[in-house]
Amino acid sequence: MTDPVVISAMVGFPAGRLAAGWAAQVLADVPSTGLSSCQACGVSVTWRQRWLSFGRLRCRSCGQRWMVWWPLASVICTAALFAIFAWLLTDQQCQNVAEVQPAVPMHLLRLPFHLLLLFFLVTATLTDFLDYAIPDDVVIAGVLTAVTGAFVSGDLQMIHIWVNWDSQVVGLYGPYLPEWMKHHQHLHGLAWSLAGMAAGACYVALVRSISTWILGQPAMGFGDVTLMAMIGAFLGWQPVLCAIAMAPVTAVAAGTVIRVVSGRSFVAFGPYLAGSAVIVLCTWRWIWAEPLLMRNVFSHWPSVAGLVAGSLVLLAVLLAALRVFLTLPADVMRR
Ligand SMILES: [Zn+2]
Repeated sequence: MTDPVVISAMVGFPAGRLAAGWAAQVLADVPSTGLSSCQACGVSVTWRQRWLSFGRLRCRSCGQRWMVWWPLASVICTAALFAIFAWLLTDQQCQNVAEVQPAVPMHLLRLPFHLLLLFFLVTATLTDFLDYAIPDDVVIAGVLTAVTGAFVSGDLQMIHIWVNWDSQVVGLYGPYLPEWMKHHQHLHGLAWSLAGMAAGACYVALVRSISTWILGQPAMGFGDVTLMAMIGAFLGWQPVLCAIAMAPVTAVAAGTVIRVVSGRSFVAFGPYLAGSAVIVLCTWRWIWAEPLLMRNVFSHWPSVAGLVAGSLVLLAVLLAALRVFLTLPADVMRR
């Protein structure tokens, strides 16, 4: 019996280096990555250095030496992230909700499916940290992986596209699932993934235009819209809306820590959105059912509409305040 936690950690090491290589490849003309070209003579680094090397680099042309540490950080963080998620998924059953009980092979497939999402998120976070950009290549590859996986498997959803919890008679009928979902699994797979993609993209696009209207400038980049489309395609519309709602809290917490520790401000929202998606992925069971009981909101159309409308305005205001907060000088924060 092999342990999925150990296997996930072992897969995380090469995956972390691959993510760093991909980020370096996408940012091939950004010198600050250290994996672009030699600072002394301008000759570009080799294929092997970009995708495989750690720490010490030496220019093949002039012999200049320099150090690059972030690919090593990516490897360690990815392996840790993979292991923690595998443990939460398989040991703590963090995604086990009463409504979704996939067949055993599909239950096993959910781990690699979500590890792929984590891999794409690590890559997007690296490029966002290094260059304030989320490359389309990464997002498109992620969306294709998610939609294809959802459609072909037909059973990878964290939650069905619709569950009627409000029409249940407690303890008698349980949740009501529309009949077509049971008979058209692959179509349902396609539907929930596309719905998640649309929900993630549209919601962030709306927040972006509202904040532009209030502030005169967008509080999020267009990269955040495409990033949430990818996350939504992997998670479905209910979890992705939870992730977006959580993002300002993640941003205030993580942003404060980053500022106090490093004295630097970090205003790109991509990493906070990615971090919130990981939190939802790791705590879905407790968000959907007890204690948060979001299932009651997500099974009642008027509640969903009210929540979306109210939170849109609230988020736009929060984002505006957050932008001001994150751009305050660090010495003000430390007082
Ligand atoms: Zn050189």
